[in-house]
Amino acid sequence: MRTIRTVAALRATRRDGETVALVPTMGYLHDGHLALIRAARQQADQVVVSLFVNPRQFNDPSDLDNYPRDEQRDAALASDAGADFLFAPTPDEVYPPGFATQVRVGGPLTEALEGAHRGAEHFHGVTTVVTKLLNMVAPDVALFGQKDAQQALVIRRLVTDLDMPVRIEVVPTVREPDGLALSSRNVRLGDDDRRRALALSRALRAAEGTVAAGTTDAAQVLTAARAAMTPFDVEPEYLALVDPEDLSPVGTVDQETLLAVAALVGPVRLIDNTILVPAGSPGTNGRH
Ligand code: AMP
Repeated sequence: MRTIRTVAALRATRRDGETVALVPTMGYLHDGHLALIRAARQQADQVVVSLFVNPRQFNDPSDLDNYPRDEQRDAALASDAGADFLFAPTPDEVYPPGFATQVRVGGPLTEALEGAHRGAEHFHGVTTVVTKLLNMVAPDVALFGQKDAQQALVIRRLVTDLDMPVRIEVVPTVREPDGLALSSRNVRLGDDDRRRALALSRALRAAEGTVAAGTTDAAQVLTAARAAMTPFDVEPEYLALVDPEDLSPVGTVDQETLLAVAALVGPVRLIDNTILVPAGSPGTNGRH
């Protein structure tokens, strides 16, 4: 695997007739990222993993300062998982002096949930850098994680609205054995907070159980989810049942519904989500 720093060097790697898959990451790779890279390996001749901690998507400067980084380790992991190129540009390569463009997806997709709590600017930072990465790499397919369900929806919207010639693939969330969704930020959890972090996945499991038992009332589902968090002494920033396509609030879980949660656990803000499938429903139809 080769590490590449510039767009020019990246373009020079393109070979006629070969398909390319892109896995955008902010590094500090874990098994969730590796699942994306392995899925990419199945789908294209060349796999490009991008590693760029995008300052424009951080609403909290201390989160950016404390974001874990280890490029050497990332290079070894990406290579083992099947990547051909690690594209690790400098901030100046991505945002050269004079850079003045922003790519925004408007409306509820960026204003709900994370947008309401971190600000829609977070997603404007994401869509700007993803547009740039897609233009730099020109992949046939780009892979994203269901862990960031709202981000995946925003990127699908972006690619559709701007007629970008790329297929977007969403890969299921990879979890620790105890249920905690893998995240680069998990390394910043101390022992006690690592235990408390289970509150999020336990809330999701409680809601799944409630829905599987036949409850469709959203308020009851949310009550069960919230109750599962209480023993961990974790207060959700939001815990919301929404339509999995447009993120509009849902009052009855009578079809597939996205349950999304965010919470501050010690110094770390964590997010997680699940798709609730009502009892007797045919299940996910390949969309998630
Ligand atoms: P990040 O480096 O956090 O920006 O994540 C890069 C990509 O990996 C995004 O598409 C994330 O949704 C995805 N990802 C992060 N955590 C997980 C996980 N636990 N399971 C699956 N995909 C993940």
